[in-house]
Amino acid sequence: MKPGKSSWVQALRFAVQLGFMVALVAGISVTKEVSVWLLPTILLVGVFFCGWVCPFGAAQEWLGKLGKWMHLPQFRMPQGVQRYLQLSRYILFFLLFAYGISILLLQGPRNFAMLMGGSVYNIASGIIITFLVLSLFTARPFCNYFCTGGAKQGLWSVLRIFGIRRDTARCGGCGVCSKACPMNIEVHKTEFVRHPNCIGCLSCVSSCPKNCLAYKLMPARKK
Ligand code: SF4
Ligand code: SF4
Ligand code: SF4
Repeated sequence: MKPGKSSWVQALRFAVQLGFMVALVAGISVTKEVSVWLLPTILLVGVFFCGWVCPFGAAQEWLGKLGKWMHLPQFRMPQGVQRYLQLSRYILFFLLFAYGISILLLQGPRNFAMLMGGSVYNIASGIIITFLVLSLFTARPFCNYFCTGGAKQGLWSVLRIFGIRRDTARCGGCGVCSKACPMNIEVHKTEFVRHPNCIGCLSCVSSCPKNCLAYKLMPARKK
């Protein structure tokens, strides 16, 4: 099948990811700038940080492409397991938060701030290599199941104003969009992608051969 017309978006995304990766390697800190617009962006369009900015997410994605290029065996979590396993990063986030609260109560606000302010990279530094190797065989394993930073952003993103809408009248139900999703979201089974794991990579949009996925105003949730 032909790729969707908007595949140029992926070229743009790669350029943005590369820019942030180069900035990281060059020691140019953009943390302050990114943190200022992070929450407003999430509330407007979702977790674009993960799909467009985060160097660790980009590293996993590029290693995934390398794994495919090397014809390494690829594993995709079955939906029956994914349904439960995708909760792991939220459980980790709340465990970490509960641990932070106990530190706050026992040792004071300074240690709490150090713990909760610590980046996801510091917390997971001991296992980063493992996840990078795993990325050769499965899409974004750290993002999918382990990242508490991504979980925190994902929880905010359920309030987003704009999101991906599937034109159900034109959709052929081929499932190409879901196969392209690195976060294993079943795009072809939903009209609006509200999933908190969505990282705004637009891979689903770019892959649709009928161009029936687009960013639209999210409707109010049905009661
Ligand atoms: S989920 Fe975590 S590691 Fe993955 S892109 Fe987002 S912040 Fe980065
Ligand atoms: S949205 Fe596009 S890629 Fe997804 S199932 Fe429909 S036609 Fe296929
Ligand atoms: S639903 Fe689409 S935009 Fe969201 S993570 Fe999956 S492929 Fe990326």
